[in-house]
Amino acid sequence: MKLTIIGCSGSFPGPDSPSSCYLLEAEGFRMLLDFGNGALGALQRHIGLYDVDAICLSHLHADHCLDLCPYHVVRTYSPQGPLPRVPVYAPADAPRRLAAAYGMPDEPGLETAFDFVRLTPGVFEAGPFQVTAARVNHPVETYGFRVSYGGRSVAYSGDTGESAELVKLASGVDVLLCEASFLERPGLPAGLHLTGRQAAEHAARADVGTLVLTHLVPWNDREQILQEASMGGFGGRTELARSGALYDLG
Ligand SMILES: [Zn+2]
Ligand SMILES: [Zn+2]
Repeated sequence: MKLTIIGCSGSFPGPDSPSSCYLLEAEGFRMLLDFGNGALGALQRHIGLYDVDAICLSHLHADHCLDLCPYHVVRTYSPQGPLPRVPVYAPADAPRRLAAAYGMPDEPGLETAFDFVRLTPGVFEAGPFQVTAARVNHPVETYGFRVSYGGRSVAYSGDTGESAELVKLASGVDVLLCEASFLERPGLPAGLHLTGRQAAEHAARADVGTLVLTHLVPWNDREQILQEASMGGFGGRTELARSGALYDLG
């Protein structure tokens, strides 16, 4: 299984990265975790424009889902199109919300390009991957994912505040992509995002191999995020996500 970070910028794109999007590949099957704004451009550095086989959306905030709209154009109107529908595992209301974002009536919405499957907590198969979805701690319906293949696994926090579900979901994974949107300060809101320290605490509790801090908001100082993560009691490898970074899990 190969993991490529397409976009790791938190809340909005930055100068060096689109918003959230992670590419997982195994047996020639290509699945995206999130498809935030700007990701469709950077994705084409890594795979062909038409080569997406499945998409999982953690939640319906713009920085996690909006490039489904331009990708509808690709699959419907390209010289190669119309292409087979891509399954999109997403929270309730995704078909209506994304149709509205596109400026399309609810029927047919984006259903000509995508086969929306409503997410619920639990396990499903997507191509060769086993995917576990669990609700995390964010103001809207939001899922974290664990993706397993060939004895290897990756977990992705989505957007979340402190979450026992995330610890369970990420238990023993090789790589945890964990959001670290906040810098430490008094009075941070609960149930929204994590700091680097909190991300590292979750990684320690879940006993993961490598912690990749992601959803990095461009106005934050990156070295400070890493420094705060070093206070979280996690002894494993810890690094900042970078658009284009590749993790080959064998
Ligand atoms: Zn976000
Ligand atoms: Zn969010």
